[in-house]
Amino acid sequence: ARRIALASRPTGQPGRDNFRLEAFDLPEANEGDVTVRSLYLSLDPYMRGRMSDAKSYAAAVPIGGVMEGEAISEVVKSLHNNFVPGDLVRGRTGWSSHAVINGDQLRRVETHGAPITTSLGSLGMPGFTAWSGLKFIGQPKQGETVAVAAASGPVGSMVGQLARLAGARAVGIAGGPEKCAYVKDELGFDTVVDHRSERFASDLQTACPDGIDVYFENVGGHVWDGVLPLLNQFARIPVCGLVAHYNGSGSADIDRLPATMSTILRRSLLVRGFIQTEFAADHFDEFLDEIGPRVASGEVRYREDIIDGLENAPEAFIGMLTGRNFGKLIIKIAD
Ligand code: NDP
Repeated sequence: ARRIALASRPTGQPGRDNFRLEAFDLPEANEGDVTVRSLYLSLDPYMRGRMSDAKSYAAAVPIGGVMEGEAISEVVKSLHNNFVPGDLVRGRTGWSSHAVINGDQLRRVETHGAPITTSLGSLGMPGFTAWSGLKFIGQPKQGETVAVAAASGPVGSMVGQLARLAGARAVGIAGGPEKCAYVKDELGFDTVVDHRSERFASDLQTACPDGIDVYFENVGGHVWDGVLPLLNQFARIPVCGLVAHYNGSGSADIDRLPATMSTILRRSLLVRGFIQTEFAADHFDEFLDEIGPRVASGEVRYREDIIDGLENAPEAFIGMLTGRNFGKLIIKIAD
């Protein structure tokens, strides 16, 4: 079997040499274990956090350990009552061609008839993140304005579409004309703003004539600087991610605290961070039942960026942290 291990910890932007492709022997399977062959690996921004040993909500990957990640796999051998060979499952099997994992940690792939890869994106963890962040924190109402960055990605694209289903106005923020066109024309956001433009702050202001009632925070950095003056009284801010800061750069040199805190005070903002696992055990099935049929029917849209070959995962992952991906980033490992 093949896997990608963490060779060393990056400082700043990760490079190819922080990863190592290696052969390994699968461990012996015990009672309850399932042996799987990986088909599709999900690459997600949180993995940057696992490469670092800074304190976080989850433990770091040890040096020499396999990179963490969720994949869709086919069951090859099962010593667990719930699974038989040929079953399609999803679980945290890592950046690996094969794995042995306890069956209790696997979920059957369930997509209401949509392609199986959606269980890593719009009908998986990122889609659920968008849904739960809006349902439990953002709570958009009819006629309100909801803004979200990384709007062409799996979280942001779902945020905007759910906002519209709630009767709100969806304002997308994305990098470059191609992504912006997709967000407006194909995802159906009301309007979109390019954060790479020099006029970003004034373009955003023009795009939000009634201010912002819900800002779903995915990136931080200069996007936050543009959003802050537009936030309305009682605006809600689900803090979901800060991808502009994950590499430790991203205009981290600016002290944003005074402006941020005084706006929280003056506008009575609700700022609430969350990790989707907080809601997943109680609400994932509800999400899937509600959104699954809408994705399968095409009412809720998504885009996938599928790259062939486990060996290409590091390069694809590094690119995602600067916006080179276009849609949910997935590595195809096998047919
Ligand atoms: P995406 O597929 O959207 O990829 C990240 C995107 O972020 C890039 O494509 C790029 O889009 C944008 N980006 C990268 N660097 C910058 C920058 N410096 N400034 C502005 N934008 C930038 O990712 P996901 O949809 O998977 O994740 C979105 C966010 O949600 C991330 O912050 C992630 O960590 C977070 N998340 C949080 C979870 C939680 O439980 N709290 C769970 C899942 C995800 P563009 O080119 O358009 O700028």
